[in-house]
Amino acid sequence: MHSQQVTAEQPASDRGERDSTAGGVPGALRSPASGADRAPLTFDVIIAGCGPTGAMLAAELRLHDVRVLVLEKETEPASFVRIVGLHVRSLELMAMRGLLDRILRHGRQRPAGGFFAAIPKAAPKGLDSAYAYLLGVPQPVIVHLLEEHAIERGAQVRRGCAVAGFEQDDEGVTVELADGERLRSRYLVGCDGGRSTVRKLLGVGFPGEPSRTETLMGEMEVGVPQEEIAAKVTEIRETQQRFWLRPFGEGVYSVVVPAAGVADRAEPPTLKDFQQQLRTIAGTDFGVHSPRWMSRFGDATRLAERYRVGRVLLAGDAAHIHPPIGGQGLNLGVQDAFNLGWKLAAQIRGWAPDTLLDTYQAERHPVAEDVLDNTRAQMELLSTEPGPQAVRRLLTELMDFDEVNRHLIEKITAIGIRYDFGEGPDLLGRRLHDIDVKQGHLYGLLHHGRGLLLDRTERLTVGGWSDRVDYLADPTAVLDVPCVLLRPDGHVAWIGDDQQDLDDHLSRWFGKSAN
Ligand SMILES: Cc1cc2nc3c(=O)[nH]c(=O)nc-3n(C[C@H](O)[C@H](O)[C@H](O)COP(=O)(O)OP(=O)(O)OC[C@H]3O[C@@H](n4cnc5c(N)ncnc54)[C@H](O)[C@@H]3O)c2cc1C
Repeated sequence: MHSQQVTAEQPASDRGERDSTAGGVPGALRSPASGADRAPLTFDVIIAGCGPTGAMLAAELRLHDVRVLVLEKETEPASFVRIVGLHVRSLELMAMRGLLDRILRHGRQRPAGGFFAAIPKAAPKGLDSAYAYLLGVPQPVIVHLLEEHAIERGAQVRRGCAVAGFEQDDEGVTVELADGERLRSRYLVGCDGGRSTVRKLLGVGFPGEPSRTETLMGEMEVGVPQEEIAAKVTEIRETQQRFWLRPFGEGVYSVVVPAAGVADRAEPPTLKDFQQQLRTIAGTDFGVHSPRWMSRFGDATRLAERYRVGRVLLAGDAAHIHPPIGGQGLNLGVQDAFNLGWKLAAQIRGWAPDTLLDTYQAERHPVAEDVLDNTRAQMELLSTEPGPQAVRRLLTELMDFDEVNRHLIEKITAIGIRYDFGEGPDLLGRRLHDIDVKQGHLYGLLHHGRGLLLDRTERLTVGGWSDRVDYLADPTAVLDVPCVLLRPDGHVAWIGDDQQDLDDHLSRWFGKSAN
């Protein structure tokens, strides 16, 4: 199969294509009317990659009975413990889907704060969230829980299957696996990481900067007492922020140290590399031995020019890469999936307004742009050069101002995001934090991924949209506006108290009324 390089937007008019008898029940979809040699559209969506982004997207799509197949090239889940944890907005998403309790059991809650360029400042008081902490939870655990959740909801996950090519036409996408097998679906989403095959085959540009600084990271045992390590680490970190040895339990330490010049990036690092670099920077290798795993990461920073070409979309690291400082990458990918899931489902179910799917790029591309920029800034602040060190000292002082500290933390935790929904009150386009409502708490009402009208006036109705949007009349809800319309991702799509205005906005986000 020749992998197609599509350059022009293709029409995505799915409305009514789905066999009305198929619904959410397993069974084949209608074959395309033209192209007799095409295989039947067995799936609605094929997702390349079962990392956190792909698994989250699969689960979101299954909320709407979309037939999903996730293809993952690795036979076993990765065991690397890469991340700091889940930030506030991701915790909110988990709460909105009833997943938070499950995840909390596997993580450790830590105070929010100290994220921006690892400047040790506590979070300002009164962060606008019911989940104002960092949940330290290893990436493999997050991926496992999300994959398990997606499977429970009916997604199929096939491991050991690498996407090697695809062709799209006006009715679907034919996906070819590395072993030559062909599968067909309406849409393909590349959640296949920074070296995304899907993005490359799509011919989407990935402009940005190549990696200039490499860092070694791994888990290993040490041969000297903890106090000795702690004292040395404190001393080194006064000038070198890309350095730590942190106890990880059972004698194992998480080790981070700048790498020497890397001749071949495809070559994995060795224990000798760690020992050598530790000696160069700290004057001792701390007797490191018995590595559990070893890795190297760079500071390449790149953003896909487009997130969608016809029936093929990109999400997560496939769409953006940046250094891990601030711990945002996984969070960003999971949030992409949360934004895309209900829109793609609406497209497939046939009720999406014409432009809904394109709001995915319109909303998420600027968010990624902002994350890339803040990681560029943070990397500068980690430099050992006198200029950046002086800027770091100055910013550290500025962060004593509550507003500066708050601005930076809202950026890193993604609770400061405001999508551009047009003119309106400040709340419009922002996510609504979890509030108490008479049935319990607001996020508990969003588990099914539907819209929600929260009506304090008790006068309005969702009328012909009740199959897509829930209604809650609650005059006691703690809001300083009369009514809000929430999208399935918890962002405020409308504020007001006028039925006609509400109907216009219901049409804008949820398509035509069924009446
Ligand atoms: C050292 C380090 C520390 C980090 N720390 C943090 C942190 O603290 N917080 C944070 O939020 N993020 C952090 N990140 C970033 C985070 O790990 C990534 O952003 C995240 O893994 C992206 O998820 P993803 O699902 O988009 O991509 P990936 O996790 O890369 O998953 C992509 C999946 O696609 C599969 N795949 C690839 N090609 C194909 C193909 N052709 N067909 C089928 N499957 C394919 C891969 O095997 C993989 O399973 C860190 C990264 C590094 C390197």
